[in-house]
Amino acid sequence: MPGKVSKIFKKARKEGRNYLLEPEAKTICLEYDIPVTRFKVAKTAEEAERFAEEIGYPTVLKIVSPDILHKFDVGGVILNLKNQEDTRNAYNKILENAKKLKPNAKITGILVQEMAPASTEVIVGSIKDPQFGSTLMFGLGGIFVEVMKDVAFRVAPITEEDAKGMISEVKAYPILRGYRGQPPLDINMIVEILLNTSRLVMDHQEIKELDLNPVMVYEKGAKAVDARIILEPNP
Ligand code: ADP
Ligand code: MG
Repeated sequence: MPGKVSKIFKKARKEGRNYLLEPEAKTICLEYDIPVTRFKVAKTAEEAERFAEEIGYPTVLKIVSPDILHKFDVGGVILNLKNQEDTRNAYNKILENAKKLKPNAKITGILVQEMAPASTEVIVGSIKDPQFGSTLMFGLGGIFVEVMKDVAFRVAPITEEDAKGMISEVKAYPILRGYRGQPPLDINMIVEILLNTSRLVMDHQEIKELDLNPVMVYEKGAKAVDARIILEPNP
């Protein structure tokens, strides 16, 4: 439903933001069949406990704030919560950390989400190039992108062939295909995610940047655990 996506953009603009909060970005992902970790935004510790029970343990709690772009850096992400007590403590700890490190930040709520089992991490992104328009980016997470700059780019919209080409041309590709007895990972799901991301940015030219970082990839399936969307300056 394209209406739902535009509505989220409108709300952000109205609040003077040109970037979306993680739950907003993930809601948009779901509209385009991009798999993300299940999530709910809590406004109280009791609510967080209830949502954690609903989502199922282990869970992750994260700060939701228009003033905090990098949540981990301010103690705004707490992983591997196993029960209600963990959840309540993490809820309070995140608020305490924010108060200390970002005293003026407005806090929208605390995001409760399913913890994705650790696996190989990939990054799917989109950046608008002034000349070519929306482009898609793919790479493996961590040092592969940050140190090796081992990434592939294509101009959107991409075809299935393009998506497959992007994945197989990164140097780290053998890791996805399985090595030293490691099973092959779900490359078809990464293809799906790239194609759906291409559709999303083509349908919504307002998107200046999109980042699914990281996406955990499994033998079967994959899931974005973080999502960031930046909009073009107010049209
Ligand atoms: P930041 O805003 O700092 O980028 P993230 O949401 O990416 O915050 O969280 C930081 C790190 O915590 C991620 O890179 C990932 O390794 C881990 N993480 C976050 N959410 C989850 C999750 N739902 N399941 C598993 N790991 C997660
Ligand atoms: Mg992140």
